[in-house]
Amino acid sequence: MDPLKWLTQRQQQGNLRCLRPLVRSLGRPPCLAGSQRPCLDFSSNDYLALSTHSQVIARSRQFLEEYGAGSGAARLMSGDLDLHHQLEEEIARLKGQEATLLFGSGYMANTGIIPALMGRQDLIFSDRLNHASIVDGCLLSGARLVRFRHNDMDHLAALLEQKKGRGQPLIVVESLYSMDGDKAPLLELVRLKEKYGCLLLVDEAHATGIFGASGAGLVEEAGIAGQVDLVMGTFGKALGSYGAYVAASRVWIDFLLNRARSFIYSTALPPAVIGASLGALEVVKANPGLGGQLLARAAFFKKCLAAHNLTVESDTQIMPLLIGSSETAMTLAAHLGAAGFFVTAVRPPTVPENTARLRFSVTLHHSEDDLARLAALLQSVLAGSA
Ligand SMILES: *Cc1c(COP(=O)(O)O)cnc(C)c1O
Repeated sequence: MDPLKWLTQRQQQGNLRCLRPLVRSLGRPPCLAGSQRPCLDFSSNDYLALSTHSQVIARSRQFLEEYGAGSGAARLMSGDLDLHHQLEEEIARLKGQEATLLFGSGYMANTGIIPALMGRQDLIFSDRLNHASIVDGCLLSGARLVRFRHNDMDHLAALLEQKKGRGQPLIVVESLYSMDGDKAPLLELVRLKEKYGCLLLVDEAHATGIFGASGAGLVEEAGIAGQVDLVMGTFGKALGSYGAYVAASRVWIDFLLNRARSFIYSTALPPAVIGASLGALEVVKANPGLGGQLLARAAFFKKCLAAHNLTVESDTQIMPLLIGSSETAMTLAAHLGAAGFFVTAVRPPTVPENTARLRFSVTLHHSEDDLARLAALLQSVLAGSA
């Protein structure tokens, strides 16, 4: 492989990725490096603004000072600290499951859990829009991968029927899809998994902290915690920290801690990170209305967009505006950036060919005024590019 040739080709397609550092300091809006101009970040997953919450920072600092900077080893060596168990118990309680296992990140969780559950003889049914970490977990497992059309339960049912009688298959979905902002039909998934004797793994990366009466996610909102075998989620998004977890029965957790290689062969999360995650869970528990506030703000943005004749198909905090061509999406993002709105153009291969989009993620860092200004600007920028 000639790397320069490869990069040039990527650039010609308008799909070259590059880093754009943000200069951040607490209490002030971030700036793009090299610019004095503050910008509003519309591509962050810090939905509840917890990464800068004083209580989250205080708990993180407390744990850092009490326990030190690093955990020193993997959990199965000497890195297993009481604070890891404290966080696992909190998550299990929140999720309505018997037990929980922490992972270094969501990517590590999915690439550890799926190969631990499934092998060469097995079948995995995976939504076509599942996150790369799920896809990679499936590939790593060596199982036969059957991808069903996004959220299409008729298609899934037909595939399950067609492949029936070949052991215990796994269905894996996200509860809230990160690029489209739509929700999985969880009740129908539970019906199908019961009918066909499948395991069900739900990734709640974008829903944790936001949906459900206690902020546990969409599985809680649907009232099906008892029917989902494994619920995975992350601390790096709405909870403003870092790391991930899977919640399930005690038996599944004991099984995973013996088999999931990304758990076994990796250093335990450091105390400051655990402190931040515990602090975030405390804030969510004490303020059960936070998720509702976020969704109300997202609904306000949708209304502003509609007033400018712009339609997004989402009822959540993730709002994709479909553009099509990667180049146009990039140009639009650059215009918005120049006006102080940091918006990412999501392009292939993250999304299918010709479905490049501007992905707006609404967070509690944004005021209604910010959202109204962005919607107005977007209309004029789009009119200019047409
Ligand atoms: C972000 C994300 C992950 C990965 O989580 P990290 O902690 O960032 O590694 C996994 N699954 C989904 C659906 C995600 O959106």
